[in-house]
Amino acid sequence: MTADELRGDGPTKSSRRTFLSAATVTAAATVAAPVAVAGSAAAAPAHSGGSGPGRPVRPQSPDRELRELLREIDQRRIEAIVRRLAAFGTRHTLSTQDDPERGIGAARDWIHQQMQGYAARSGGRMTVELQSYIQEPASRIPVPTRITNVVATLRGESSPDRIYVVTGHYDSRCTDVMDATSDAPGADDDASGVAVLMELARVMATRRSEATIVFAAVAGEEQGLYGSGYMARQYKAAGADVQGMFSDDIVGSSTADDGTRDRRTVRLFAEGVPTAETPAEGNTRRSVGGENDSPSRQLARFVGDVADNDSTGMEVRVIYRRDRYLRGSDHISFLEQGYPAGRFTEPNEDFAHQHQDVRVVDGKQYGDLPEFCDFEYITRVAKVNGAALWSLAQAPGTPKGAIIVTTNLTNDTELRWTRGTEPDLAGYEIVWRETTAPEWTHVIGVGDVTTATIDLSKDNVFFGVRAVDTTGHRSPVAFPRPGS
Ligand SMILES: [Zn+2]
Repeated sequence: MTADELRGDGPTKSSRRTFLSAATVTAAATVAAPVAVAGSAAAAPAHSGGSGPGRPVRPQSPDRELRELLREIDQRRIEAIVRRLAAFGTRHTLSTQDDPERGIGAARDWIHQQMQGYAARSGGRMTVELQSYIQEPASRIPVPTRITNVVATLRGESSPDRIYVVTGHYDSRCTDVMDATSDAPGADDDASGVAVLMELARVMATRRSEATIVFAAVAGEEQGLYGSGYMARQYKAAGADVQGMFSDDIVGSSTADDGTRDRRTVRLFAEGVPTAETPAEGNTRRSVGGENDSPSRQLARFVGDVADNDSTGMEVRVIYRRDRYLRGSDHISFLEQGYPAGRFTEPNEDFAHQHQDVRVVDGKQYGDLPEFCDFEYITRVAKVNGAALWSLAQAPGTPKGAIIVTTNLTNDTELRWTRGTEPDLAGYEIVWRETTAPEWTHVIGVGDVTTATIDLSKDNVFFGVRAVDTTGHRSPVAFPRPGS
């Protein structure tokens, strides 16, 4: 805004519009020169109201390796896992841990054994551990209780310190959350999520990944996210670089309680203002309008880009909320430690088959039984997770240290970031969108550089930076902080 405008006698609307389109032409010319990665920077068609430099953003198609991997995801195996887990009777966190047939201990040992079988075919790249601790009495934990996560880690070859995590919780519950002995088959909640991560561990174990992927069956979710909380705190204490985490929780059914079916949609919940943000970080976020640009939102946009296509057969319905209204899951444990995370869940829930004692009332069957699962649907959810995790782990990491330089007030935008260390890193792209657009609309290739100036005002649009490798895999977007 000029001083003239401040006084109320600035340019008229029409003269301002003329100024803007002149600036846009200049912008297109300015960015055309340094483009290396992305080809020519023709002016994009008006898209979500924005026009300016760059090409329209397009989704990232799965490459041949990913398509092959997704085809190996086996519905029969997923069904067998859900049925086996349901057959332990209950997997309540407070249930017996030393009965070989019934209870959470038997389920833990079975998952562990299966994962070790997958790891045996990994050429030493996958290791499996029982990550265990004693939870002292706390909410919904009346006595000291051993809580154990079964964790399979596929170590990355070129960026082993960069980590992506997928979890499902193998504990279950019935109507009374403290009832550790009644049947609690937990087929949908959450044997379905455990089946997703186990089947992904199996098909990824035989492959070489650039970054590390972790497949974790966690416990204690129903009592209060205990297992995932422990896991996320361990990562944080070790300074681990977890760049994305997904909780698959209740991904087993495509049927709502009114009987309507939606076989082709999975919801992905992603928070806006980060759970772990400090008040100072929140002030900065408000001052730049970054409420819709948390790392978790960028992660969710990435998932839409790589997993909403014919190789998964699914629409990823991103929901701009941390979880369902007032509810939660294991991704919150990771959000609390400052890691980007989201929660996958089925499109509609049927509450007759969640957190319910197995019983028949007036001819209606209640309880979370395998017969109410849709195994074809779970298989497609596994493909969505597979496409997301594999694409993340084969792409460069999210750019670090991204800033918009604010040393001088100007009407263009200077961005800066730190170069990544991936051996196949090819360069960077700047993305931008109108402030009212939900997703990135324009992309400008800038080559293998660590700074770029775009002739568009940071006052009017949002900017991001992403990395690209030599085969065209793109990273999630980093939303720059103001800096100097
Ligand atoms: Zn659950």
